[in-house]
Amino acid sequence: MSDAIPFLAPRADVLARRARIVADLADMLPPECLVHEARELVPFETDAFVSYRRLPLAVALPRTTAEVSAVMRYCHRYGVPVVPRGAGTSLSGGAIPQEDAVVLGLSKMNRILDIDLPNRAAVVQAGVTNLNISESVAADGFFYAPDPSSQLACTIGGNIGMNSGGAHCLKYGVTTNNLLGVRMVLVDGTVIELGGKALDAAGYDLLGLVCGHEGQLGIVTEATVRLIAKPEGARPVLFGFESSEEAGACVADVIAAGIIPVAIEFMDKPAIEICEAFAHAGYPLDVGALLIVEVEGSEAEMDATLTDIVDIAHRHAVKTVRECQSATEAALIWKGRKSAFGATGRIADYICMDGTVPLSQLSHVLKKTAEIIDHYGLRVANVFHAGDGNMHPLILFNANDPEDAARAEAAGNDILKLCVDAGGCLTGEHGVGIEKRDLMRHQYSEADLAQQMAVRAAFDPGWLLNPSKVFPLEGRPAA
Ligand SMILES: Cc1cc2nc3c(=O)[nH]c(=O)nc-3n(C[C@H](O)[C@H](O)[C@H](O)COP(=O)(O)OP(=O)(O)OC[C@H]3O[C@@H](n4cnc5c(N)ncnc54)[C@H](O)[C@@H]3O)c2cc1C
Repeated sequence: MSDAIPFLAPRADVLARRARIVADLADMLPPECLVHEARELVPFETDAFVSYRRLPLAVALPRTTAEVSAVMRYCHRYGVPVVPRGAGTSLSGGAIPQEDAVVLGLSKMNRILDIDLPNRAAVVQAGVTNLNISESVAADGFFYAPDPSSQLACTIGGNIGMNSGGAHCLKYGVTTNNLLGVRMVLVDGTVIELGGKALDAAGYDLLGLVCGHEGQLGIVTEATVRLIAKPEGARPVLFGFESSEEAGACVADVIAAGIIPVAIEFMDKPAIEICEAFAHAGYPLDVGALLIVEVEGSEAEMDATLTDIVDIAHRHAVKTVRECQSATEAALIWKGRKSAFGATGRIADYICMDGTVPLSQLSHVLKKTAEIIDHYGLRVANVFHAGDGNMHPLILFNANDPEDAARAEAAGNDILKLCVDAGGCLTGEHGVGIEKRDLMRHQYSEADLAQQMAVRAAFDPGWLLNPSKVFPLEGRPAA
């Protein structure tokens, strides 16, 4: 381990400092756990928010909590910023190393440590993918409920970082409702445990705080998650409407009636066309908007719930009601929805907004969103978790045209402000990251933000952990 590293302004000294940090990390980690050659760093320069990119100083890929702790102790000692990274699927730029940082990747910590069916819990390392958890308990009739569309790739550590949701979170809740405990390495290398298999823990709800911390409170190395027994049956049903406004109003009425299906997903006409062309899921192409409503339970329970929902849909002049007839058809319906972002990427560049609104405002916000998009001369495809009021307008643009890109960013900002002004919030599940950092003042007062930053500083007084995210750069307390 080296002595204090001087940080001097001239470039040669900066280069020397970087080389020293890499050499010290190389003393701590085997060669396959450290990336530092420029061309090998390229995959880590951005995430799914590709508008921003910057090469990190190095990427550490530890295999154990002890190695994570050693890297953190070192970086803390020498004031090196650290950006935690799971699979890098963040849509808000959460895993982009904006500063001269060490990226701490959890991809090598990908083991399932304990499946405890009697206690309905699994203990997994932070780099385990979301889908892997459900797959590993499927044969026993269990699953892990939060199901981001990126679940094939994204990690449980990233899900905790962003408090991720998914199509089936309407009934089962998002990550925070399904997380029982974490092992976490603090900025100075200290290892702490929060929560566990018991249903409640004494003291402050720090586990709640860690859900959605965007890599700023520590490095999660292990998670204990809740397992849920699979329902007797599940049935997705397609409801086609004349317009987005009618579909939005139907969602609001279903929830207002006290009916909680497992999922209510929304697609407008452009989204239906894009997803159908990709997945051939059999979506109706003659409607203005589509809801995928999934009910579950026994046949009798599903029939009863569906009867109530169909009644409400008829009040909104529903054009098509189609129950799926087989497991294959159900899988295709979900494949179409879950491929929506990838399918959109086939036809244009896009940025994905993530505002959340009260359900009573859904129709209004959809209408205003269309007006904003028209104003900027852009196109949009809406595909989102309607039951949660979590909207995802995908704003289509041409990334090779800087003016088009600027228009798309401006339209996105207007849409997010619209969500806040409608009583909602800037993010439902994708986090603030870089993307919404400068809009935080539209949502929060200076006092609100100062309190949040004080909590952050209690964990990381030197602002070393993912420092350039979440909070506006101006007005931060001195580190
Ligand atoms: C096609 C597509 C579809 C998507 N669909 C959904 C969806 O339906 N629902 C949804 O919620 N999101 C969705 N996302 C967004 C993204 O997949 C989630 O935010 C996911 O949780 C990120 O996981 P990750 O492993 O890729 O984390 P990363 O992107 O690597 O990191 C995300 C954040 O968590 C922090 N972090 C990561 N690991 C750790 C750790 N171990 N300890 C501490 N901090 C950590 C990072 O610093 C960063 O701030 C989608 C993304 C794509 C590309």
